Amino acid sequence: MHAISDPEEKKRNLFLAEFMIPIVKGGGTEMGIEVTSLGIQIHGGMGFIEETGAAQHWRDSRITTIYEGTTGIQANDLLFRKLMRDQGATAKVVFGEVYVTAKALGASGKPELQAIGQRLGAALKAWTDATEWLAANAKTSLSGVLTAAVPYLHLAVTVSGGWFMGKAALVAAGYLDKGEGDQTFYRAKIATAHFYADQLLPQAASYAETVKAGDAALAAFTDEMF
Ligand SMILES: Cc1cc2nc3c(=O)[nH]c(=O)nc-3n(C[C@H](O)[C@H](O)[C@H](O)COP(=O)(O)OP(=O)(O)OC[C@H]3O[C@@H](n4cnc5c(N)ncnc54)[C@H](O)[C@@H]3O)c2cc1C
Repeated sequence: MHAISDPEEKKRNLFLAEFMIPIVKGGGTEMGIEVTSLGIQIHGGMGFIEETGAAQHWRDSRITTIYEGTTGIQANDLLFRKLMRDQGATAKVVFGEVYVTAKALGASGKPELQAIGQRLGAALKAWTDATEWLAANAKTSLSGVLTAAVPYLHLAVTVSGGWFMGKAALVAAGYLDKGEGDQTFYRAKIATAHFYADQLLPQAASYAETVKAGDAALAAFTDEMF
């Protein structure tokens, strides 16, 4: 760690941290609900029965997407404040970092890391495409962009998760190569990143499609239909 004196670098790092806040809060809390719900599911009827305690974890998680800024508000924050305030400049820094990670995974010479890198590259493409769509529609279709906010947050969360997992996998591979530390732990890091890449990263493409659909379907609903 070192103190940063350059004001431009300070501002860049601050914007980067602020950009990640809705992604970390929104993504972490939404994932908490999914994980605790899955916790009930894998225990079957016993999971649902109150005495086993699994449902309590779900209930404790359920509030986290509501207080300290609902997911909808986190999504608006990401889009209208963090993404648009500097016309996507901070987003481009993040995209560049994700690209560097995907490239390093691809160049690693290890098949499971290369597989993660390939998935991460495709997910990043979905994220940049959706961001370009938002930039192109921000002025002319506010309701389309508003409709896209939560899917866009999910997209950012999905790709960021793959990015962090990819970085962790690269570090783990380094320790495995050197034969240092807890080898099983590092193999588990790579296996987890590979699982995430295969099972979750492909969702980025569908979130991007949802973003780009805007409010075309939603706009057809009228009050009488409810
Ligand atoms: C157990 C508990 C503890 C709490 N503790 C505190 C506390 O210590 N201090 C404190 O200040 N508050 C506290 N709160 C309040 C909490 O911050 C609010 O519940 C939260 O901000 C959501 O506001 P709301 O409940 O009025 O929901 P609403 O604002 O009515 O939101 C309802 C839904 O509409 C969506 N929505 C609303 N506006 C928009 C918009 N503009 N764009 C998109 N979607 C939107 C939301 O995302 C949400 O899904 C607590 C709440 C609970 C349940």
